[in-house]
Amino acid sequence: MAIAKVEPLLTTRSLRGPFDYRLPERLADVGVGSVLRVPFGRQRVVGVVVEVAEASDLPPERLAEPLEALEAGATPELVRLGLWVAHEYCSTPARGLELVLPPGMGRTGSGPGPRLELSASITRAGRDALTDGVRLGRVQRAALEALIDAGELTAAELQGAGADTQALRRLESRGLVELRRSERSRRPTIVGVGARSGRPELTADQSAALARVVSAMDGQERGELLLNGVTGSGKTEVYLAAAEAALERERGAIILVPEIALAPQTVSRFAARFGDRVALLHSRLSGGERRDEWQRLRLGEARVCVGPRSAVFAPVSDLGLIVVDEEHDSSYKQEGDPRYDAREVARRRAEQVGAVLVCGSATPRPESWDRMPRVDLTERADGVPLPPVEVLDMRTGTGGDGPLHARTVEALREVRSAGGKTIVMLNRRGWSPYLSCRSCGRAWGCPECDVSLVVHRREDRLRCHHCGYAEPLPAACPDCGSVTLARQGAGTERVAELLVELAAPLPVFRLDSDSAAAAGGHLDILRRFDVADAGVLVGTQMVGKGHDFPDVVLSVVLDADATLRFPDFRSEERTFALVAQLAGRSGRGPRGGRVLVQTLAPEAEAIRHAAAHDAQGFLAAELERRRALGYPPFSHLVRLELTAPDARDAEAAAGRAHDRLRNELPAEVALLGPAPRFRLRGRHRRQVLLKAPEREPAVAAVREAVDDLAGSRDLRGVAISVDVDPQ
Ligand code: ADP
Ligand code: ZN
Ligand code: ZN
Repeated sequence: MAIAKVEPLLTTRSLRGPFDYRLPERLADVGVGSVLRVPFGRQRVVGVVVEVAEASDLPPERLAEPLEALEAGATPELVRLGLWVAHEYCSTPARGLELVLPPGMGRTGSGPGPRLELSASITRAGRDALTDGVRLGRVQRAALEALIDAGELTAAELQGAGADTQALRRLESRGLVELRRSERSRRPTIVGVGARSGRPELTADQSAALARVVSAMDGQERGELLLNGVTGSGKTEVYLAAAEAALERERGAIILVPEIALAPQTVSRFAARFGDRVALLHSRLSGGERRDEWQRLRLGEARVCVGPRSAVFAPVSDLGLIVVDEEHDSSYKQEGDPRYDAREVARRRAEQVGAVLVCGSATPRPESWDRMPRVDLTERADGVPLPPVEVLDMRTGTGGDGPLHARTVEALREVRSAGGKTIVMLNRRGWSPYLSCRSCGRAWGCPECDVSLVVHRREDRLRCHHCGYAEPLPAACPDCGSVTLARQGAGTERVAELLVELAAPLPVFRLDSDSAAAAGGHLDILRRFDVADAGVLVGTQMVGKGHDFPDVVLSVVLDADATLRFPDFRSEERTFALVAQLAGRSGRGPRGGRVLVQTLAPEAEAIRHAAAHDAQGFLAAELERRRALGYPPFSHLVRLELTAPDARDAEAAAGRAHDRLRNELPAEVALLGPAPRFRLRGRHRRQVLLKAPEREPAVAAVREAVDDLAGSRDLRGVAISVDVDPQ
């Protein structure tokens, strides 16, 4: 008797699946990855088959039968991957498995269905009717005539001839046409911004990189590679060629990109090269489009998948290649449960199926630098040298204009008179980050979070950037009545306004999540900047990502060390990447370019090395620092966060978690905390951080502690989240 071991899609932590079900003859097709609706206690739930066995430990009469098998499921390979994610990131099997199921399937098992299209073809009798003088209505005759010429037409096309569905049904009942419903894929439209098409001959460096990838694919080398090359050094051409090599070997490829909205050029280059063999998977597609793209991959109609982190779970069979483009990008880390890192999942998946993993970046992560075999692309494909970078010290009087240094103002004026494009990056949106009362010192903070409210002048509101809380911008202080309120510091909104004055008559485009809130908004702004003859693009880190404008002659980073001021061991690497990425994207055209970096920390390693385009130097220094402090890659971090509406509950839970872990973990695991983190969305937070030389035992101890705490009755109202390898 066949037994299906089913993991119900319920996220209760205390559930100990999988559960056995008896498979009747009618469900003989069920295999690992099938999705079933099963009786579960008094409920009916959706579950995924994780194993099919010959026998169960339970007597047959105690086993229930599944109610039905649902249309589509995952593959055995993906089931394994989903369960691995659940385990590795201390989540539940259900949450891990949900990642690998068809989009929109969820816990209800009811995602969008296929789009069916009605089409008609003429029958023998229909042909005869046209010549035999059979009585036909005008519309009927027109439809039949159209069908004689075309063979088969869709209902939509026949509408053109005046025949609606009803008319077609009547023709069908008279036996004059045959109707059938067939599935037609909904395909997303792909737009390119500044994308160049064509197929250049690879340079010697690119060919060498490709050869390494291909030989790894053919099993002659270790299956992973860090492709280190500045922006414009031709990494994408290598990915394209590597994907072609995979297809030639009848293998598939997954290309991961950072947020899709910021990677239109990469997407459209893949679409141009591979046409219908590419599928696109991301959250901005409609439910139907996502389902259909997923199905095209599942059925093997498409063999290359391009998408953001979740595309690492795409149902591509016989995978030969996984590319992680811009591998330093923080969007590869999922923030919800499970807090997986798509780069680690990609590594695991590549290992599992014998595919090659290629991670590419101009600013690789210290972890990748340390552990991956590497190939370098040392020059830009166009041979143009990287632009000179000037660091501007903002600590002393700058003689400039508010947030802008005098040299920056001067450079902007030069571009205004000579023409050309400028990019200005300031990683802070809104008008100004703080509002305070000059008379009594009142500061405006979010009622739900311990952070300042940000002034948004155009909207006339104060906003919390953490929870979305908003209130009208006050005209006077509610405490003392004073009307002298100080808006301190500058965000993109304010700088954009300043630039409008400085750069006029050149147009200024602002790109941040406020200005791009509308769907497709990012693309639209980038496209407008792309087609303009000259102008200024100002915005958050989005301006430094994923695109490639050849005619940028000036790039400016404001407050470059803002990210350094975060108390986080990754601050250095983030700051370096932010500055180096923008610097690397400038001066691509014949006029060359220059880069200005305004900072309060001109001597910081991250800034100095970024200004010298020296990733290698930065990484060497950063790895030494990490080694000295015992941070990754020289240790593994696990962060436990406990939150509750009441501070005492959070505190108590954190204390218990800490004590329990201390008792269980070996002495060489450092346990930091419980430490308070700022209150967020009305919840008080405490964190406990583990710094462990060995990953597996630390994760295992946390998993047990969390399962235990989650099941404990006196911790109601406390939410626990685990972040393995926090970013
Ligand atoms: P990266 O991904 O490293 O930023 P790309 O692959 O996008 O680099 O290449 C940058 C630009 O150089 C693109 O416009 C690309 O078409 C062009 N390019 C890349 N490789 C070559 C080559 N071998 N010959 C000519 N042009 C190339
Ligand atoms: Zn006041
Ligand atoms: Zn808030």
